[in-house]
Amino acid sequence: MARPFLFGTNFKMNQTPVESATFYRELAATVQISPDTHLFVIPPFTSLSAVNDVGGQPPHKIWVGAQNVHWAPSGAYTGEISVSMLLALEVDLVLLGHAERRRDFHETDDELNRKVLAVLGAGLRVLLAVGETAEERSFGVGGETVLRQLKIGLHGVEPERLNLLQIAYEPVWSIGAGGTPASPGDVEPIASVIRAGCQDLFGGSGDEIPILYGGSVDPSNAGTFTALPDIDGLFVGRAAWTVEGFIATYQAGIHGWEGDRVTG
Ligand code: PEP
Repeated sequence: MARPFLFGTNFKMNQTPVESATFYRELAATVQISPDTHLFVIPPFTSLSAVNDVGGQPPHKIWVGAQNVHWAPSGAYTGEISVSMLLALEVDLVLLGHAERRRDFHETDDELNRKVLAVLGAGLRVLLAVGETAEERSFGVGGETVLRQLKIGLHGVEPERLNLLQIAYEPVWSIGAGGTPASPGDVEPIASVIRAGCQDLFGGSGDEIPILYGGSVDPSNAGTFTALPDIDGLFVGRAAWTVEGFIATYQAGIHGWEGDRVTG
């Protein structure tokens, strides 16, 4: 089965509801979405309703994602958001395991597994982020780290839910303003570890799971990552925080991906 191309951004703790809705409206009005492609935008929780009110037409609706969720259906979890609350806001996707959540909020693989199962169980898409730190890389255990995150994070996922799953490989040392851009040569071996891990977990169906790359991606390097055989899209921060930057990076990425499909 051919995997789709995915491209999207996470606004992190930036933007008011009006700012997110304006971005989404302008993006939806401007971007040309290629066939077999899904775009997504992940604003703060407080922007979800305003962005979804802008709407869009299936099958080319730009997916709207949440940055996190709690695993429990309800209860005494002050400050948290449940899956049913996200369903009521009609979100399309939930980002789980971003490096900032793992680092600053101490999210563990076991907790992420509970979140993955809760989200998939409700029929929502998951974007699970995995990636090694600079220290883990320096010890030569980047592949082992990512494989552990993947195998614990996806433990118990039922094969019939795989169509809702996508993985983002984001080396922690490459993301954000202090990050060092990775090269395709850095990304390829870890992407192939992720692919092998998916196959190990789900057999041949593991080949259907899209793997996105994220970390200091911009229009100048986007196509070099998407030309890799195991990379099916991009998860972009800073470079996609303007509509022009989003579109330019998406176009560069899909160009590399289409070239890979032609020559690969
Ligand atoms: C990120 O923080 O997930 C990310 C990909 O950021 P950037 O593209 O800005 O490096």
